[in-house]
Amino acid sequence: MTRWNDAVNQAGELPDFLYIDGQRVRDALLDVIETHDPASGVLLGSVPAGSRQSIDDAVAAARAALHGPWGDINPRERGRLMWRAGEAIRDQIDRLALVETLDSGKPMRDARAGVERTADYFCYYAGIVDKLEGTTVPLGRDKICFTEKVPIGVTGHIIPWNVPINMVARGLGPALACGNTAVIKPAEDTPLSALMVVEILEQAGIPPGVVNIVTGHGAVAGQALAEHPDVRHVTFTGSVATGKSVMIAAAQHIASVTLELGGKSPHVIMADADLDRAVPDILKAVFSNSGQICSAGSRLLVERGIQDELVTALVAKSEALRLGHGLDDPDMGPLISARQLNAVTGFAERAMQRGIEFASGGKPVIVEGCEQGHFFAPSIALNVPADDELARDEVFGPVLSVIPVDSLEQAIEIGNDSDYGLAAGIHTRDISKAMRYARAIEAGQVYINGYHAAGDTVPFGGMKHSGVGREKGLAALDAYYEVKSITVSL
Ligand code: NDP
Repeated sequence: MTRWNDAVNQAGELPDFLYIDGQRVRDALLDVIETHDPASGVLLGSVPAGSRQSIDDAVAAARAALHGPWGDINPRERGRLMWRAGEAIRDQIDRLALVETLDSGKPMRDARAGVERTADYFCYYAGIVDKLEGTTVPLGRDKICFTEKVPIGVTGHIIPWNVPINMVARGLGPALACGNTAVIKPAEDTPLSALMVVEILEQAGIPPGVVNIVTGHGAVAGQALAEHPDVRHVTFTGSVATGKSVMIAAAQHIASVTLELGGKSPHVIMADADLDRAVPDILKAVFSNSGQICSAGSRLLVERGIQDELVTALVAKSEALRLGHGLDDPDMGPLISARQLNAVTGFAERAMQRGIEFASGGKPVIVEGCEQGHFFAPSIALNVPADDELARDEVFGPVLSVIPVDSLEQAIEIGNDSDYGLAAGIHTRDISKAMRYARAIEAGQVYINGYHAAGDTVPFGGMKHSGVGREKGLAALDAYYEVKSITVSL
């Protein structure tokens, strides 16, 4: 335990405040929310449970900044500030990655990659700020008509716990690039990195009020943010149930939403696939971040003839995966919380009660030195009926459901028979099959012969219950500006 306590000490003083209008707010009247290392159970710190009033204050600050300093900065300077912020984040990668690992349980290499991607979001969107051009519309000789992209206003960002620092930057990058201001509500389980990022933005020269953070409970601070009449756009990542309530809250004041709500993504392996390439890819697609990824390839649709060979290889490799504390850079860290561990365990136990066989895993594991950690074994469930809960619902843990299929057509039919439509993958040497699948599958992102191969500059988002709108890349900008047309009669 001492080792983990030493790591917490090494992280230095951790943020314990709300950040509103450039002020660190510590209000003795507010309850606090403790945050723990999910691998060791060690207490990291605590943050205030922001109230409705805290949200009101943060939105008022964001509004004032919109009409004040941020609105006055010319686009080129805004871009420079964002670039500087990105580079400042990169400069602090060691501490940010340490805290992200401690707060979320991720392996250190993933936390470091996450910080790099966070910096990249700021730098990528910094480059577009002075290129957000409008158009001219021909209306004849006696009129001049042109359009401008104008900020939408105060944006609200409700952040999940699975990739906390990235999600902050994923929404903030395009929002700030378009000239908006922001109020962020981090997840209760992982509030620290968002607060650290905002302190770096301050050092980089982003004016007070432009980015505000209110930590707190979803049902209070999150709900208040989505409901706030002065919030013009809400960006939310999380569960379908909470996404619906955010959408309803935003509808009450006609605010737009970007919703990223998870999935049950099909990963198809055809008999002609290169299995040496497919096997590590399948495992990475489902076990990265301990399966706590919205786009995880959690439904494996395998052409029946290669099922035995493939499953044997997958089981051997998954049983060799090393679980441990993120600081030891294991193959897999813990789940985020006891609640999530219970939820994942419940899925596995119910599946077993229905007679589903697990070729590996299917239960929590105790890791030496991390006995308080929320670890679940990498798990492979066989012959899962396509209509079973395990094949339909998002487990959000390291559980792969293997479903045999007889043809590409059947894979497409089963793949599309889902409420979700976030991501999809296929391994085959036949480009025609790959493209037929890519065209037919209902998913926002499709990967051929390499799951998750698209990076953060590629539009990302879901169809059906997986969400509304697109994040990442230039497509993300569309949510953050209004098109205003101005017509002059000569
Ligand atoms: P939620 O959707 O409840 O939480 C996501 C965010 O929304 C958190 O910041 C949460 O705050 C906030 N929130 C909660 N209730 C409200 C509300 N009424 N109004 C506004 N904001 C709210 O997810 P959970 O953490 O409960 O996880 C449950 C399941 O959701 C997971 O098992 C997984 O299936 C899915 N999920 C999907 C994610 C994805 O990437 N698409 C990410 C995370 C979860 P607080 O932390 O205080 O609860």
